[in-house]
Amino acid sequence: MVRRLQTIAEQTPQNAPPIFSCGVKCLFFFLSLLFFVGCRQVGDLLLPTAVPLAVAPEIATAQAESHDETVSIVADEIVPDLTPQPTIDARIPTPEGEGIRPMDAEQNYVRSEVPAPHNSEEWRPPPMIAPLSFNPDDHYWLIRPIPSGSRNYDLEWYPFGNDVQADNVPAYRIHHGVDFPNDTGTPILAAGSGTVIHAGSFPSPRNGINYYGNTIVIQHDWQWQGKDVFTLYAHTLEYFVQAGDNVEQGEVIAGVGSSGEVTGPHLHFEVRVGANEYVDTRNPALWIVPYEGWGTLAGKVVDRRGRLIPGARLELRAPGANENLRKQSTYATIIRSDEVWQENFVIGDVPAGEYELHITVADVTYVREVTVLPGQTSFEVISTEFTYNPTPTPRPLPTSLSPVLIEGTPFNETDSLTTTPVPDS
Ligand SMILES: [Zn+2]
Repeated sequence: MVRRLQTIAEQTPQNAPPIFSCGVKCLFFFLSLLFFVGCRQVGDLLLPTAVPLAVAPEIATAQAESHDETVSIVADEIVPDLTPQPTIDARIPTPEGEGIRPMDAEQNYVRSEVPAPHNSEEWRPPPMIAPLSFNPDDHYWLIRPIPSGSRNYDLEWYPFGNDVQADNVPAYRIHHGVDFPNDTGTPILAAGSGTVIHAGSFPSPRNGINYYGNTIVIQHDWQWQGKDVFTLYAHTLEYFVQAGDNVEQGEVIAGVGSSGEVTGPHLHFEVRVGANEYVDTRNPALWIVPYEGWGTLAGKVVDRRGRLIPGARLELRAPGANENLRKQSTYATIIRSDEVWQENFVIGDVPAGEYELHITVADVTYVREVTVLPGQTSFEVISTEFTYNPTPTPRPLPTSLSPVLIEGTPFNETDSLTTTPVPDS
């Protein structure tokens, strides 16, 4: 593989999604009420009026959690009943006046009026079959928690391990999961088989705020590296399972909702390894099976002593192109890496092929030519020639990769990301 290095001074304008204002949210809530009241039952089908179809696509483009207190009104209104019965947002009538079941959720699910054409940016190939491990370090053992035909790929501008990647959106939490924006009621699938260990509200142990809203946690019936693996599904409309239930991979466990602190309906999905704790999340893109013919680009940006550099800018482009296909940063320091890969970035769902990865650290941009292979993780180790002083965290070596030093020395010690450079040992 050819690797080259060049230094580019550039300022890349960032594409910014629309802000989902409270006004729009209130409008959506009102229109949703109109929709559900306006549903009429014909045979076994609920046929919607045209009202929600006109607004649903707009809403589905901008969702994510916010720690802005001003958006907590949704959480206050949707804190669920703590009884073990399936619950549903009390504002939305159901035919029987009680918790709805999976078939009802499917009937309530409103597909987009205009199917995405197969050559559009919206289209994705069918996912491969999980579990999938073309190479021994891969563990694509989970399916997408949203069915094909709905948006089963995550929100690009709020990547795992990153703050929000848009100029006109206020700062969020560092993302410990990935978001799947979808219409309310879209089925949520168990990503793997296992036992439901939680189905209810999920208040923060730190401050009691129910950021996650209605939440389901599955402990899977297999382990990774001798550790338990959990998946978490937040902001659901309701639950179709309860704690203690055994679920199969692909089983409908809930519908997409807006419970908790959100700016629109979406599934927040987490993978937790070792313990069902916030600090034990891992990048779901290393667990969710790729699309047919697509793969995953992962790697680590390290200093000359092999320590991970957080916050380095990453831009994936077609060779020679100026436009970013994807952009994000290396993980924040609080994010944990995969047991084997020890990565600090993952760009998931990339069509197999040749790309340029632009890496910007301290206003200097490197370019590396990368190859993404289908159905597996293509891993890049990007070593800079300067010393960074990270939070000390012991990290074992990966199983099959050794660092490849980028040629050139763009940094002096004084260019280090820290004011207290660590001397070489
Ligand atoms: Zn999220």
